[in-house]
Amino acid sequence: MDNETGLPPELTHLDIQKMLIRLQQSEARLDMVVSSTKLGTWDYKPLTGELLWSKECREIYGLAPGVKVDFDLFVNQVHPADKGYVLELIQQAMDPKSDGKYDMSCRILRCDDGSERWVRSQGKVSFNLLGQVEFFIGTVLDITENRLAAEKGARLGAIIDSSEDAIISKTTEGIVTSWNSSAERTFGYTAEEMIGQPILKLLPPERLDEEPMILARLRNGERVEHFETVRVTKFNKKINVSLTISPIKDAQGNIIGLSKIARDITEKKQEELRKNDFIAMVSHELKTPLTSIRTYIQVLLARSKNEEDAFKTNALTRADVQAKKMTSMIQDFLSLARLEEGKIRITKEEFELHDLIAEIASDAQFLTSSHQVKLVDCKDIRINADRDKIGQVLINLLSNAIKYSPKGGTITIGCTKNKKDVKIYVSDEGIGINPLDQKRLFEKFYRVKDEKIKTISGFGIGLYLVAEILRYHDTEIKVESTEDVGSTFYFMMKCS
Ligand code: ADP
Repeated sequence: MDNETGLPPELTHLDIQKMLIRLQQSEARLDMVVSSTKLGTWDYKPLTGELLWSKECREIYGLAPGVKVDFDLFVNQVHPADKGYVLELIQQAMDPKSDGKYDMSCRILRCDDGSERWVRSQGKVSFNLLGQVEFFIGTVLDITENRLAAEKGARLGAIIDSSEDAIISKTTEGIVTSWNSSAERTFGYTAEEMIGQPILKLLPPERLDEEPMILARLRNGERVEHFETVRVTKFNKKINVSLTISPIKDAQGNIIGLSKIARDITEKKQEELRKNDFIAMVSHELKTPLTSIRTYIQVLLARSKNEEDAFKTNALTRADVQAKKMTSMIQDFLSLARLEEGKIRITKEEFELHDLIAEIASDAQFLTSSHQVKLVDCKDIRINADRDKIGQVLINLLSNAIKYSPKGGTITIGCTKNKKDVKIYVSDEGIGINPLDQKRLFEKFYRVKDEKIKTISGFGIGLYLVAEILRYHDTEIKVESTEDVGSTFYFMMKCS
């Protein structure tokens, strides 16, 4: 040993200088870590009662600079409910028989505003040869945000797990990453059996192309909601499900996964099938007598016209209009049943649009005396479509325009021709439809729940059929509407 410095004699001044520089560097590095992580440090010497808190530690506790800190102040700031547990852990760490390690998370009440925060404190006790605590040093970190995030995660997890719907997440390649208890009940596979497996396991062979189609729609920014389809369970049973799928995006907006909610609608589908069967049967039975009633009315109407009996002619004309209304209702019911069975057939022919629209507009005028049905010229436009079905679409739109314009007004049916397309529209000056309902009008059995239309009867299938018939013609029904001003329903068709 060097007598003056107490250092080994082989160490030169240069070595010492290097060691000092290294020490300064590592202190600087530690300082950087401490300040960038907002990690507080503390130093407690029980033998003298001295307790030192770093600047960061004081900030965490909301302690003003200059205020002296001691053990009592520290204990005072621990949340009353956590005090007992914290003191016990300190005691354990200071027990000479222990390894002296200390790690605890608790709530504190900040000195400045009394607000509650969560902190995690870790430390180590050093004992002297007498088994007394020489010093107790450690760190403290504010973990409130992590704690809240974890609590939120746990709450969400509990909701997901108690959900009646199957909630599944998967990668963009279709590999399952999470699987809740309802997914286990619905599809029969446990989470262990499905996590890491391809979702394609649930798809019947004839629907394998649905997954890429859904992904393409999501990539296009479209939402996939209430998509009704069929999936297969572990026990090879086919079930009807309604899927709502949303993309999971990273901070840059890239799709990194998909979350899927699947609702088992098998019961509902069976119920619908039974309802459809019933509707189809009743409608079919009503159709034959109604056709014969209409024939008799026509014959009587022709006679009364010949006899120039104005009263009879008027009465029979009204009876004919009502019978026609019934025919179109029955027609809607039968179309619905056929559509559900996938039996709807589109027979296209080329025809003059004006003739069809004029026929329908004049029939519609008979249905109402309080509205004026105006036809805007559609001459010289030919389209290739199913004439009867397009007629059914227009009748439905016109009869709705009459029904939902209780104060009368003008109802306009007309066309606007572009180069290759024609826009066919029906507009009214009626009650209008609010934006939220506009989105759902074309769903089966959907009716607006509003005081204004409480007394207007209907089944909520007219617009569903309109949308479906037009879908079969590769086009789409659209609506523009303002409440208490009126609505315009329109669609585009290719001209021949
Ligand atoms: P229904 O008329 O039998 O209820 P629809 O499917 O034809 O069934 O229409 C669905 C709903 O859309 C109606 O209940 C009504 O609330 C609303 N609706 C349809 N057409 C109009 C219209 N022209 N003006 C205002 N509301 C309309």
